[in-house]
Amino acid sequence: MDRLIGIGVTGTPSRAGDVSSIVTTADDELTVDDEIVARARIHTRDVLDGCDLEIDRDALEWTVTTRPRRRAGACRWDADREVATIVLTRQAYERYEWEAFAGVVRHELVHVWEFQRFGESSHGPRFREQATRLEAPRHCETFAEPRYVLRCLAADCDWEAHRHRASKPVKAPGTYRCGTCGNTYEVEHVDSGRTWTTASGFGGAKAALGDRW
Ligand SMILES: [Zn+2]
Ligand SMILES: [Zn+2]
Repeated sequence: MDRLIGIGVTGTPSRAGDVSSIVTTADDELTVDDEIVARARIHTRDVLDGCDLEIDRDALEWTVTTRPRRRAGACRWDADREVATIVLTRQAYERYEWEAFAGVVRHELVHVWEFQRFGESSHGPRFREQATRLEAPRHCETFAEPRYVLRCLAADCDWEAHRHRASKPVKAPGTYRCGTCGNTYEVEHVDSGRTWTTASGFGGAKAALGDRW
């Protein structure tokens, strides 16, 4: 315990650097999640001010998830507490334009309204009618995490590409180059966080992961 505290205060520069970068990352994550909820709440207030959809905002909670999931948003209903929780997916917030993400929020608000009024929710006619009024998408927005992320290795280049299949640039990154600056790039298997830069690296990662591939 003492030692952990000591690293941050008196550690070698490189270690202190590591610690502070970890702390910064945690702060950034907190901030992004706070920002997502804050913007969603403001949007909710604006939407509800402009229409007569009766939602009890005191019985509405918000949470942000980073678990790779297929949906940009979801709505949970706690029937005992009669509280609805809108779950928003951070990766969707980061990739969508705000307009599209706001549509996800409105879609989930219709679920909240149904849960609070009727104790159940679906995508039936009642849902569709309100979704149309709120100009919300009628279907839950499906959101698929890419399976692979290609990332340029040049320090000053932020080129990134997403792939769902093990295409040639995924399997043999050594024979391709960054789409922006022409540098080499690495490939990350998103689920496991494993990365490689060559065809043999790809083979090694695949073999090491086995069933988790
Ligand atoms: Zn839905
Ligand atoms: Zn590049």
